[in-house]
Amino acid sequence: MERNMSALSNVKSKDVQLIDIYCNVCGKKIKTKNGILEEDVFEASKEWGYFSKKDLEVHKFNICEECYEELISTFKIPIKIIDKKEVL
Ligand SMILES: [Zn+2]
Repeated sequence: MERNMSALSNVKSKDVQLIDIYCNVCGKKIKTKNGILEEDVFEASKEWGYFSKKDLEVHKFNICEECYEELISTFKIPIKIIDKKEVL
């Protein structure tokens, strides 16, 4: 949340472009209010490189929290979870 707000703070309100964000998996629209996300999403961005078949392509997608839970539950190896309270 804080990250989204700081990104918008130096933009004049009239210049803010409201771009709808959708979950690429289920097509659900992610709730936003004044251009700020009201629910968190998994944002993926991948620049494919020379050793892939997609060299020079950038792939981007968003996954809502429910779809994310479903996706990671199918992983053979569980994801790594870092508790930020412990790091800080
Ligand atoms: Zn979804």
